[in-house]
Amino acid sequence: METNSRNNGKSQHLTEILSGSGRLIIAGPCSAESREQLLDTAKALSADSRVNFLRAGIWKPRTTPGSFQGAGTEGLKWFNEVKKETGMPIATEVGSERHVYEALKHGVDLLWIGARTVSNPFTVQEIAEAIRGVDIPVLVKNPLCPDIDLWQGAINRFAKTGITQLGAIHRGFTPETKSAFRNQPNWAIPLMLRNRMPKLPIICDPSHIAGKENLVTLIAQRAISNGFDGLMVEVHNNPNEALTDASQQLYPKDFLLLLNKLHESNEQKNQKELLNELRLEIDNIDNTLVETLAERMELIKHIASIKKTHHLEVVQPTRWKKLIKRIIFEAGQKGLRPSFVKKLFNNIHEESCFFQQTNIKEIRRNEKSD
Ligand code: PEP
Ligand code: MN
Repeated sequence: METNSRNNGKSQHLTEILSGSGRLIIAGPCSAESREQLLDTAKALSADSRVNFLRAGIWKPRTTPGSFQGAGTEGLKWFNEVKKETGMPIATEVGSERHVYEALKHGVDLLWIGARTVSNPFTVQEIAEAIRGVDIPVLVKNPLCPDIDLWQGAINRFAKTGITQLGAIHRGFTPETKSAFRNQPNWAIPLMLRNRMPKLPIICDPSHIAGKENLVTLIAQRAISNGFDGLMVEVHNNPNEALTDASQQLYPKDFLLLLNKLHESNEQKNQKELLNELRLEIDNIDNTLVETLAERMELIKHIASIKKTHHLEVVQPTRWKKLIKRIIFEAGQKGLRPSFVKKLFNNIHEESCFFQQTNIKEIRRNEKSD
């Protein structure tokens, strides 16, 4: 029997939740859209005692102006009704001092700081000051860019203002290359944060990493097997009609199935399904490898024209020896075999010399025909 962390709309302390079930589970729509939508979703979620908080965005930080900006203060009034009807404590995002005051005034139980806000230390400080003296859980999402110091710095601003119920949310990073995911998981970063701050609870938001409802379970399971302390998942009573993030929101019943699946270890999982999931992640990494190689070749073009101007040889043995020595060392630190890395980089070097030679010839041919 699961212990119920809810107490008539009043939330338990974060450490109590974590020491009870071992997991902090937050679920609900991306945005609060209407009284009915919120109530309907909350009712479905409140039936499962594993869900600790209902989430819903009231002020939406949209990339494009003109799209739905959130229900604002009107939505905060729906929160009260939802709490009365379902007993669920409520979590929402704050992006300014005013949001904090409004949310606290309306009895919001947990505040989180969004990925866009975290990137701005002025705003983070302003929000931290507004929360000072209030005993409320505050969760800090990672910034859009993979900058662990910026993330940790934001968390420390809250810690310094005396906020003790503090945690982090990993929601992925803006991808530089084509990716199956909306945001790159870069698991090494949240895991590094855990090494730096071992007492800090870190949960994962698989919805914003996945970007598509059929990938949410995969990311959620990866987070749990990586030892995360819980999840924040976007769940909507009618995802197809959602005003924001429609493609990544789950029906309540599918979310509750996801929670059941989390208990399965990799051994218990359907091995064929697991293989497909792992291959999807491999495809993502391969895309990144190809993009990186193409970027390297672009730089080679510039190098070729400089070498030509200065009448330098294409192959520079001293530079090459230094490069391969450094790469073998770096790769060795990460457990890669020297013979493999040497073979791989010899191939890359050969191609780049060929590329430079043909490029230089092309430059010369073009000059002659001018
Ligand atoms: C959200 O949780 O709906 C949201 C806007 O997330 P993020 O700040 O991670 O983009
Ligand atoms: Mn969202």
